[in-house]
This record gives sequence, structure tokens and C-alpha cells, in this order.
Amino acid sequence: MGRRAPVVWKRPAPGQITITGSSLEALLECPRRWFLSRRAKAEGGRQSRASIGDIVHLIARQAAEDGLTADQMRAQLDRVWEQIPFEAEWLSATERSEIDEAIDRFARYQASDGRDVVAVEREFRVPLSIEDREVVLVGTVDRLERDADGRLRVVDLKTGRRILREADVVDHAQLGVYQLAASLGAFDEVADGERRVAPPALAFVRSGESLPALVAQPSIDDAPALADEELVVGPTWVHDRIAQAVDVIRAGTFDAVECGACRYCQFASSCPVQNQAGRRSAK
Ligand code: SF4
Repeated sequence: MGRRAPVVWKRPAPGQITITGSSLEALLECPRRWFLSRRAKAEGGRQSRASIGDIVHLIARQAAEDGLTADQMRAQLDRVWEQIPFEAEWLSATERSEIDEAIDRFARYQASDGRDVVAVEREFRVPLSIEDREVVLVGTVDRLERDADGRLRVVDLKTGRRILREADVVDHAQLGVYQLAASLGAFDEVADGERRVAPPALAFVRSGESLPALVAQPSIDDAPALADEELVVGPTWVHDRIAQAVDVIRAGTFDAVECGACRYCQFASSCPVQNQAGRRSAK
């Protein structure tokens, strides 16, 4: 892993900085990629056609709100499938069969015992002060549930093929932001003021036998610090990560950091890290 030739940016005025779970994850992984994708998004706008992930999330939301069966979810999918862009007919057919299986898993998950659903696709916005850093955590949780003890549990649906292991999600920034937001009262209105958090989880709907593969992160109530790290600002490891990210944004220099995202990064062709690696392998 290496840091090279940073992108330099005009520093933001002091004040509140907005942090989302996904931006925190991206920023900590590679600041250069985070900065350039943010700029590309601002310049290029949103893609107009729906993705599989968008559609599965929409159907999952409706299923939770209206109690749809798997057949009803598939009927909804039939109605919108043509809007998803595929490069070839066979890709569409393969995807469809995998998504049908994902819907079956999700329907069984929803019908299984112990799922007290508090809210679906719930937006949040909660201010937070970490030493002298003023931050607003914003985002949307796919599902907010209560566990058997009444604690809040955030479940994030994942529709991609890549599955993470428990060791990968111990410091998963997005789950960390979700559970911190819940513990700060982001869901007070719908959860009767409950702020205790149960381990949040990623639900990989394309994987798993009968149910989606669930991979959970320890609750910050039970484990505020990571096993191999001392807290710097605290009181939890999520505060530390947010403080780190805000410091990068305030400094206004965005280093390229070689990481797992390099394999599919859209900014690799102009990246100093990649160019240097290319020169090394050409020697
Ligand atoms: S190629 Fe890798 S190091 Fe370069 S910007 Fe992309 S993610 Fe960062």
C-alpha cells in the first residue's frame, strides 16, 4: 500500500461536514478515488436507467411495507426488468435467475420469526461533535429491526455477488455509521426513544442457503473499541474513523492509496500509484 501525489483541493470553510456511511468507507479506503468520484458525480449527474440494486431495494421496501409474498415480488420485478440495461440477452437471463433466488431468500427472511421491523428505507440526519469537528451523519438504512431484547438492529441489503466475511466487517464504516447514528437518537421518532444498538448486519441476498447470508458487526455498545486498535478520540472506533476522515477533508489533499478498489477504479488510468506500478513491471 502506498500514498502518492495527492489531488489538492480548496479547503472547505470551517463548519459542519456531512458524512455518509458509504462516503466514509470510500474516503478512508482511497482519498483520491473518493474525491474524483464525488467531482464526477457532481459534473455528470445520475445515470438515468435503474440498476438491479435499486430495483431490488425498491421491491424489498414494498415487500416489508405491504407484506408481499415471493410471487408478488417476482411480479413486481417482471414489470420493471426491461428498464435494467444489459449488454446481452444471456446476461439478462442469468441475472434474472439469480435475482429470483435472491427474492426467495429475502421472502423467507422476512417471514422468519424474530423480525420485529421498526422501519424500512428510513432516512436519518443526526449532528455529532467530535472534539472540534462538527459533523452531520446522514443516510438511509434499508431495514431497522428490534432484536429480542428490544435493541435496534440495522440490516443493510447487499445485492452484489461479492460477499464479505465477519473479519471484513468488524470495522465496516457504513455499518459503523448506521449503528452510531442509531445510538445518537437518529431513529427516536420511530423507535420510541430506544438507542441501544444490537449488532448491525449486511444481508447478502444472492448468497446463503435458505436465507440471505448475514454477516454481523459487533455492537458499539458491547465493543466500543476494535480488538487491535487503541481509541484515539473515542468514545468508539467509529468516532475515530470519522475524525480521521474529517481531517483529510479539512486538509484538502487527497492521496492515492493502493487498495482493493484499484481493480475496478474508474480513475486508474490517470493514477500515479498505477502508473508507477506499471513502470516497475515494465522494467
Ligand atoms: S487506482 Fe487505486 S490508488 Fe488510484 S485512485 Fe483508484 S483506488 Fe486510488
